[in-house]
Amino acid sequence: MDRTSVMNQGIIQGLFDNGLMGIEIPEEYGGVGAGFTTACLCIEELAKIDPSVSAGVDVHNTVVNNTLKFWGSDELKEELMPRLATQHFGSFCLSEAGSGSDAFSLQTKATASPDGSYYTVTGNKMWISNAEHAEIFLVFASIDLSLGYKGITCFAIPKELGAWKWVRTRTNSASGPAARALWLSTTWRCLPSTC
Ligand SMILES: Cc1cc2nc3c(=O)[nH]c(=O)nc-3n(C[C@H](O)[C@H](O)[C@H](O)COP(=O)(O)OP(=O)(O)OC[C@H]3O[C@@H](n4cnc5c(N)ncnc54)[C@H](O)[C@@H]3O)c2cc1C
Repeated sequence: MDRTSVMNQGIIQGLFDNGLMGIEIPEEYGGVGAGFTTACLCIEELAKIDPSVSAGVDVHNTVVNNTLKFWGSDELKEELMPRLATQHFGSFCLSEAGSGSDAFSLQTKATASPDGSYYTVTGNKMWISNAEHAEIFLVFASIDLSLGYKGITCFAIPKELGAWKWVRTRTNSASGPAARALWLSTTWRCLPSTC
C-alpha cells in the first residue's frame, strides 16, 4: 500500500466488518457502542501492524464519528452514522494552508442562498486524512469571517452532494496512503437539512 499509495479495499472492508469503524457509535446506528478507551486500544493494536491504517481508523472514529455523535442533530445522526459505522470512510476537514494550529483563522466560507434554503461552501483544505477514500466530509467553514471563531460552524457533506476534487501530495510514511492527500475543494451546495 505504501508503494502504490492506495488503501487495499479488502482491508477497508475488513475494518468495517470487524466493527472497527463504529467503535463509539451507538448500537442503534449500527455501531459497537463501546467507549473511548476501547477505541484507543483498537487503534494501538492496529498501529503495531500498520500505523497508516491505524491513523485512518483513529481519525474516522475519534474526530469524525464523535463530532457527529456529540454535536450532530438527530436527523444527521440517523442519516450518516449507519453509513460511517458500516460502509463509508469519513474525513475531518479543518486545516488549511494558512490555518493549522491556529484553526480559528480558517478562510473557507459558507454563504447562505438568498432564500436561505441552502449554503454554498467554498475554500481549500489541506492534510485531510482519509480524503481519498471518504464518502462523508465534515467541513469547517465560517458563515461570517468578521465574527472570528464565533462564525465557524461544521457542515456534514456527503460526497455525492458536493463538487470537489483532491490532489495527492508527497509521501508521508507516518500517515500512510490514506492520510496524505491534499484536498482541494471547489464549491459545495448543501441543503440546511444536511448541514
Ligand atoms: C499526518 C497528518 C494528518 C493530518 N490529518 C488532518 C485531518 O484529517 N484533518 C485536518 O483538518 N488536519 C489534518 N492535519 C493537519 C494538522 O492538524 C496540522 O498539521 C496541525 O494543526 C498543525 O498545523 P501546521 O502543520 O500548519 O503547523 P503550524 O500551526 O504552522 O505549527 C508549526 C509549529 O509551530 C508551533 N506553534 C504553532 N502555534 C504556536 C504558538 N501559538 N505558540 C508556540 N508554538 C506554536 C507548533 O507547535 C508547531 O511546532 C494532519 C496533519 C498531519 C501531519
